Amino acid sequence: MGNYAIAIHGGAGRLMTGVFTPEQEKAYHDKLAEALQAGYAILAHDGTAVDAVEASVRVLEDSPLFNAGKGSVFNCEGQNEMDASIMNGKNLKAGAIAAVHTIRNPVSGARAVMEKSTHVLLAGAGAEKFAKECGIEIVPPSYFYDEERYQHWLATKDMEGASWAGDTYLTNQATTGKKFGTVGCVALDSAGNLAAATSTGGVNNKKFGRIGDSPIIGAGTYADNKTCAVSCTGEGEYFIRQSIAFDVSALIEYKGFTVAQAATEAIKKVAQLGGEGGLIAIDNKGNISVPFNTSSMFRGWINMEGEKFTGVFR
Ligand code: ASP
Repeated sequence: MGNYAIAIHGGAGRLMTGVFTPEQEKAYHDKLAEALQAGYAILAHDGTAVDAVEASVRVLEDSPLFNAGKGSVFNCEGQNEMDASIMNGKNLKAGAIAAVHTIRNPVSGARAVMEKSTHVLLAGAGAEKFAKECGIEIVPPSYFYDEERYQHWLATKDMEGASWAGDTYLTNQATTGKKFGTVGCVALDSAGNLAAATSTGGVNNKKFGRIGDSPIIGAGTYADNKTCAVSCTGEGEYFIRQSIAFDVSALIEYKGFTVAQAATEAIKKVAQLGGEGGLIAIDNKGNISVPFNTSSMFRGWINMEGEKFTGVFR
């Protein structure tokens, strides 16, 4: 029990109960619990929310179970092209990288932009060059290859346009296709500071150069000590068009909503335009809200009372 708390997501999707064997479902719960613990241990030692969200997201990026870092989906040219961002609610500093192919942990690349540059968002080769200069681990593009994701891309690449990762299991009857999820984390530390981070491979078969909501501050990620920290998942274009992460914060600041009211209202707006997805949000008192309008969202939290939860389905 403490005055700190943490929440994570591993992506919203259209999974239905029964799609996993008990062993597969357990593997997801175990990885979510491991990621939560990585961040929570930092918070428990009076570490910062920024350190905690980076640590939790790195665990999920290193796992091929999620669509971020290793295990990212493939774009229309059969490449893994990743986006990530991080924001510090204490000073509203933020960093992001987009369309990168060689940064092992994109969230750490985003943090380098936040802390070691005067910019917020770097893309493509420039982002990779900057990460390398900052001593961030660089790997060959083949590191991100995942056979199951690749087979899914092969099976779907001639279908119309991009498919959001959450669609995987519907469009892919031929392979098991059960790997989902953009990842994200929000945290409140013992000093009262909030932070948020999001990392993704984007959407399957996306156009080269397509950038989603995850690296867009205010769309996929936002944190402000005055209000809350937010990380989103879903069909990114809908989240960009309504600045969903910032909207949650704005509803708290301008309208006096609770975090649960604000988060629910923001997801309602996504749905009103025809979009699907979810988000995780934590306010500056440690209240956590995780609304989604899909049938599933990998998620978990450890709240102010020290209670732990991981879940997949509604
Ligand atoms: N929001 C991510 C994107 O559009 C995808 C996801 O969350 O599944 O890139």
